Amino acid sequence: MNLLIMGPPGAGKGTQAEVLVKELDITHISTGDMFRNAIKEGTEMGRKAKEYMDKGELVPDEVVIGMVRDRLSQPDCRKGFLLDGFPRTVEQAKALDSTLDSMGIKLDGVVNIVVPLEKLMARLTGRRVCKGCGASYHVLFNPPQAEGKCNACGGELYQRTDDNEESVGTRLKAYEEKTQPLIDYYENKGILLNINGDQEIKKVLEDILKTLKK
Ligand code: ADP
Ligand code: AMP
Repeated sequence: MNLLIMGPPGAGKGTQAEVLVKELDITHISTGDMFRNAIKEGTEMGRKAKEYMDKGELVPDEVVIGMVRDRLSQPDCRKGFLLDGFPRTVEQAKALDSTLDSMGIKLDGVVNIVVPLEKLMARLTGRRVCKGCGASYHVLFNPPQAEGKCNACGGELYQRTDDNEESVGTRLKAYEEKTQPLIDYYENKGILLNINGDQEIKKVLEDILKTLKK
C-alpha cells in the first residue's frame, strides 16, 4: 500500500505513522526526520535546510523533491510506503505524481488528519521527541512512562528547536497558505480520506485503519 499522511504541523502525523507502518508493514518516509538526520550528520543539505527549519519556513521545493525522489527509488519502498510531511506544496505534489508515474506506482490513499488550528500550538510546544528513535510524546497529552525517557527504546527525550511559539506561528501560516490547497488537489483525485484527529490517539488510529480497510 502506498500512502500519504497529511495535516497541519502537530496534527499527529508522526504519532500515527509510527504505528501504521508496523501494522501495514510499509516504509515510513518523513521528510522532517530526513532533514533532522542530515543536520545531525552535518551534511551540506542539512546545513541549508536548518536555516529554513529554525525559522519555521518551508525548505525550497527543489531540495525536498530531489531528496524524496532518491528515497523512493530505494528497495525498501517497494513493499509500500507512508510519506509523512511531503508533499507540502502543489509543486511538490505534481513532482510526486510524475515520479510515481515514471515508477509505474500509484497512490492508494491520502490520510488527512483534521484538527482545529487553535489546538496545535499547545500540542507543538508540549511535544517531546526521542533522540534515539524519533517517537513523539507530549508532556500532558501523551507523557512517557518514565519522565524524559522513550517508552519504546529508552532514549532521551528532547524538545525540537522549532517547537517554540514564534516558529510554530510561521509553520501554521505556511500550512494554511501552501499546504492546505493539497486537500482539494487530492479530493479531486478521489483519494482523500479525512480523519478526525481531535480525539484520543488510539481512536484516531482505529479510524484510520477502519477507513483504509473500506
Ligand atoms: P506531526 O507529526 O503531525 O507534526 P506529532 O505526531 O508529532 O505531529 O504530534 C504533535 C504533538 O501532539 C505530540 O506532542 C503528540 O504527542 C501530540 N498528539 C498527537 N496526537 C494527539 C492526539 N490525538 N491528541 C492529543 N495530542 C496528540
Ligand atoms: P516536520 O518534521 O514535518 O514538522 O518538518 C519540520 C520542518 O522541516 C518544516 O517546518 C520545514 O522547514 C521542513 N520540511 C519538512 N518537510 C518539508 C517539505 N515537504 N517541504 C518543505 N519543507 C519541509
